[in-house]
Amino acid sequence: MSLGWPLFQLPMSLVDYVIAHELAHIRVSGHGVGFWRLLGHALPEWADRRDELDELGRRLWMGGLDS
Ligand SMILES: [Zn+2]
Repeated sequence: MSLGWPLFQLPMSLVDYVIAHELAHIRVSGHGVGFWRLLGHALPEWADRRDELDELGRRLWMGGLDS
């Protein structure tokens, strides 16, 4: 994931997630336990947001644009 995503297409809650995610990567690279723990401090509901973004990403990039 990167900030190259079309952020303007995302709901605000998911923009928060993407930004928190990228900020966490300044401190921790990769997606190990330490990364998710850090992200959890900024955004306790990160797992829900991540699932939401995964789902939305599939729809945006895999043929969902015509719906
Ligand atoms: Zn990441």
